Amino acid sequence: MVRKTKITIDHSKCHSGASTDPRDCRKCLFVCDPAVLLMHPTLEDHPDPYNPEIWRIDAIWLSKCTGCMKCVQVCPEQAISIIPGVTLHEMKAR
Ligand code: SF4
Ligand code: SF4
Repeated sequence: MVRKTKITIDHSKCHSGASTDPRDCRKCLFVCDPAVLLMHPTLEDHPDPYNPEIWRIDAIWLSKCTGCMKCVQVCPEQAISIIPGVTLHEMKAR
């Protein structure tokens, strides 16, 4: 069975309403060569759907994660946790 990579971002630590706003940090985005992570606006918990000022980081392209852990090491909030699984490269080699 193929074990998928699991990436969790703790939004209570990194969020436009938390102590670190991802728009001011972006360190995880800069170090991730395969661009697994995405910073995006969200309407979740926001009172004004026409002015989505809430931003957060999420992992989108999990199969591209190499498990290098650079994002975990660079994050000043310890907001990222990763359980590496099979990479896209390994899947293609099977
Ligand atoms: S572990 Fe490496 S490849 Fe995976 S999301 Fe973090 S920086 Fe990107
Ligand atoms: S490095 Fe950490 S604190 Fe900075 S944007 Fe990424 S998840 Fe947020």
